[in-house]
This record gives sequence, C-alpha cells and structure tokens, in this order.
Amino acid sequence: MKRILVTGGAGFIGSHLCARLIEDGNDVICLDNFFTGTKENIIQLMDNHHFELVRHDIIEPYRAEVDEIYNLACPASPIYYQHDAIQTIRTSVMGAINMLGLAKRVHAKILQASTSEVYGDPSIHPQPESYWGNVNPIGMRSCYDEGKRCAETLFMDYHRMNKVRIKIIRIFNTYGSRMLPNDGRVISNFIMQALYNEDLTIFGTGQQTRSFQYIDDLIEGMVRMMNTEDDFTGPVNIGNPQEFTIRQIADIIIKLTGSKSKIVYKQLPMDDPQQRQPDITLAKEKLHWEPTVNLEQGLKSMIDYFRKAEF
Ligand code: NAD
Ligand code: UDP
Repeated sequence: MKRILVTGGAGFIGSHLCARLIEDGNDVICLDNFFTGTKENIIQLMDNHHFELVRHDIIEPYRAEVDEIYNLACPASPIYYQHDAIQTIRTSVMGAINMLGLAKRVHAKILQASTSEVYGDPSIHPQPESYWGNVNPIGMRSCYDEGKRCAETLFMDYHRMNKVRIKIIRIFNTYGSRMLPNDGRVISNFIMQALYNEDLTIFGTGQQTRSFQYIDDLIEGMVRMMNTEDDFTGPVNIGNPQEFTIRQIADIIIKLTGSKSKIVYKQLPMDDPQQRQPDITLAKEKLHWEPTVNLEQGLKSMIDYFRKAEF
C-alpha cells in the first residue's frame, strides 16, 4: 500500500483518479481549495478509511509523509482559469514549487498534469512531445499555457538539480462524468444545451479541431506513467488521436441526444488554437497505452450521466 497525495483531487479528473487509486489498494490524501472542485465529486469516498480530504491551497506549502504525488490542482476550463489569471499562474508556478519541495523532502515520486496547451496554436500537426509549441506569452490564455510551461521547467530543474523523481504527462482534451454542467468547456456545454433544447454555441466557424479522450482512458495512462522506471520522466502525450471539428462535435451531440437544438455561431475567443491532435507514439512505446473508448461510446455515457444528474 502506498500513501498518495492528489492535489486538485476534488475536481473532474482528480476525483476519478482518487477513486482508482483507492480501488488499487492505496491510501489517498485529496487536497483541494474547491475553486472548481466539489465535495459531491468525492462523496462516495468520504466514508472510506483509506481516503482523507484536506482543504488547502497549493500556493501555500503543505507537508505530509507520502510516497507519490499527482499534481492536478489548477482550473482547466478557459472561463475559470481566466477568471483570476494571476491566481492561475500562482497555482501553476508556486503550486509546482511547493509540491516539488515536498517531493524532495520526503523523497516522493511526483507526476505533473501538464497539458496540450503547452503547444499553443500548433504549427506542427499532429503534435509530438519534441515540438516546442507556438504560445502567445501575453494573451488571455497565457496565464494557463505559460503557467503550465513554467511548471514543466520547474519539474525538469528539480529533477536535474535535486534528483527528484518526476513524471510529466501532457493531457489532451478530456471529458466524462463529474464535469461541471457550467464548466464552460465544449463537450459539457454542448450536452447541457442539447438536453435543454437550447442553441448550441459554436465559437468561430466550427472548423477548428480538437481530439477528445474519455476520462477512463486518461486515468489508465496516468497510473501507468507514474509506474514507469525512474529514469523515464516524459513528457508524454496522453490523448485520443481521433480528431474532429467542433461543428462535427455539435452534430454528433445533437444526434445522440435526439435534441431539437439549433446551432448558432459566436465570436471565437482570442488565441483559440486552430488544430490539435496528439502523436501518441511515445505513450504506446513506453506505457503500452492507447485509448480504448471511441467518441460515440464516451459521449453516450456522459449524456447518460448528465441526464441522471440533478442540475
Ligand atoms: P478541474 O477544474 O475540474 O479540477 C481542478 C481542481 O483543482 C479543482 O478541484 C480545483 O478546485 C482545484 N484547484 C484549483 N486551484 C487550486 C489551488 N490553488 N489549490 C488547491 N486546489 C486547487 O479540472 P480538471 O479537468 O479535472 O483538470 C485537472 C488537471 O488536469 C489540471 O491541472 C488541468 O490543467 C489538467 N488538464 C486537464 C485537461 C482536461 O481536458 N480536463 C486537459 C489538460 C490538462
Ligand atoms: N467552444 C465552442 N463552444 C463552446 C465552448 C467551446 O465552440 O460553447 C470551442 C472553443 O472555442 C474551442 C473548442 O470548442 O475551439 C474547445 O474548447 P474548450 O474550452 O473545450 O477546450 P480548449 O479550447 O481549452 O481546447
């Protein structure tokens, strides 16, 4: 049994990860400031004596004797991470320093939940880990993109200078149960709009692309990455290479929900990437991992969840 700290553990991805780690027989400390996470997300774990919940902001130091740390704390949806851009950077940068400091003190292995946003609006397609990206340092998305890039730098420097055992994964767009109905990201927005027969809001022309992975595939990839040999740090892309235009996503969700919704077009937000698709050659080779859930299967189960949830 390992003692594992999950920062951002009450969020969408974190809550699934906590459940999986407990299922695997570990003791889990879930640390969260509840900015976008909720107690409802982890309510089914509250009675489990292998689970502990701590209200804490990772911009402040935190101490605990743990064997592994998954560092997920950071809002991921553009409307939330732009709500207080400075707090977002503090979370990514000071949070990384605090968690790396903890890992160093207690000799824990630490995994960073980085993002495909480090590639910005990519000019290479699909994106391999060797691509350095095309990121605007002064735009509306920069607090998130540059914060996450700086966190990757910090992880590598703690590894090089202090021999901290680190792992970096670059997560591509992920969806599934426990996303907030008002999360603001495209899949949850479209499903909620479709279920209420409201207009689906496409930003821009809808010809921009994304590649969406289902939450269960991501969790499997994260755990496999944490369990790789110490000399393998990543970064590794974790995503589903099936690529769709946003217009296609809208059409599929209208079809799967049987909705009467129409599509309306709104202004494209600043610096919205035009294309995104992971090259997952490295994940296949090093983690023996690839996604198993296709978009239609994953959307059906998320639609079921949103139908049953009482929002
Ligand atoms: P989320 O917003 O649901 O979860 C983030 C969690 O972190 C929330 O519970 C929030 O309350 C908590 N948090 C935020 N700031 C904090 C702070 N300063 N101290 C403590 N807790 C804090 O988002 P998510 O989709 O679950 O994303 C989790 C991680 O995965 C994030 O780091 C995100 O950047 C990364 N990621 C997610 C995606 C995706 O598609 N969901 C893609 C790439 C990367
Ligand atoms: N998007 C959209 N309508 C919405 C929400 C998002 O058309 O209601 C678009 C958004 O402009 C982007 C894509 O969908 O091009 C994915 O957006 P999301 O916020 O989910 O993720 P990210 O842009 O961070 O990849």
